[in-house]
Amino acid sequence: MKITKLTVYQVDLPLKEGSYHWSGGKSVSVFDSTIVRVDTDEGITGWGEVCPLGPFYLPAFGQGARAGIYELAPHLIGESPLELTKLNRRMDVALKGHAYVKSAIDMACWDILGKATKMPVCELLGGRYGESVQLYRAISQESPSEMAMKVAVYRAEGYRRFQLKVGCHDVDLDINRIHAVAAELKPGDILVADANTGWLKHEALRVCRGVRDIDVYIEQPCASYEECLAVRAKWDGPFILDENIDGLDPLLRGHADQAMDNVNIKISKFGGLTKARQARDLCADLGLAMTIEDSWGGDIITAAIAHLAHSTPEDMRFTSTDFNSYVTVSNATGAPHRENGTMKASTEPGLGIEPRMEVLGEELFEITE
Ligand code: MG
Repeated sequence: MKITKLTVYQVDLPLKEGSYHWSGGKSVSVFDSTIVRVDTDEGITGWGEVCPLGPFYLPAFGQGARAGIYELAPHLIGESPLELTKLNRRMDVALKGHAYVKSAIDMACWDILGKATKMPVCELLGGRYGESVQLYRAISQESPSEMAMKVAVYRAEGYRRFQLKVGCHDVDLDINRIHAVAAELKPGDILVADANTGWLKHEALRVCRGVRDIDVYIEQPCASYEECLAVRAKWDGPFILDENIDGLDPLLRGHADQAMDNVNIKISKFGGLTKARQARDLCADLGLAMTIEDSWGGDIITAAIAHLAHSTPEDMRFTSTDFNSYVTVSNATGAPHRENGTMKASTEPGLGIEPRMEVLGEELFEITE
């Protein structure tokens, strides 16, 4: 089987809540999602999606994804979409770095592999573990009382795991946010305070001291790995790294340094399902529990997250995200839908989705031989 064409679409995904705020005053109200269709000479078509969290979360942005795919696509015509490790090496030779650019292409080729073998991607990624995958809800950075109120609202929808967006330089305000939400929690709920690199070291240490009596995970307090390592050494609770862990080198270094208890595996941060699976398998063997998700996305990405998460041993899964429930536009049918705070990977071949062509609209460009 050979790749004959790559076609690229762009879809805006407005946020149901209106806007999403996190550290440093950053916010997004409409997500810029890029969808890739990969055609083959055997008539099987695969679909992938990449959706950065605005241009200032990771080194990634929507126009960059499309420019990168335009650059990369001619190198992939004639290649096999079924030989995924080889295809990823081909992409790495043709375009250095820019992991997120490769993510939607790799995802589409997993969809093709599943359709060609009549197997769900979940089973191809290692096997389906358990009935369903536990989800968390991200709580946009607002006042302490608004964040506490949102936790109550989302718990009523079935979520039991909450990730607070903290990380502002007003340390007392962040401490109040964590206390206000903690007061709302019920037994069994899990609370994460994700600063998204927003604290300086001294601020992170003050927050840690101010919430020491609360059962809370601290996620990515500071920008650099070294700052996080220093904060981690003085915090006696569980600790998560996200932005700093974008490949195998930082993952292995973090493990050797005992820099984190959990790792956030975002599909596009690693460059697609092939590389995210490699990191996932390594984490599972090293005893590092994982949040399995992406930077953002619609139905296609949510389906891919469900397949990667559902193929992860249950005790190694910390949380995942149903991004399709955060946005007002559905870009595909067949994607998982949240049920009582959980979701399931499709049992259909491939990703199990069918894009809504009326939502995708006209293609932006296509690359053929
Ligand atoms: Mg995070």
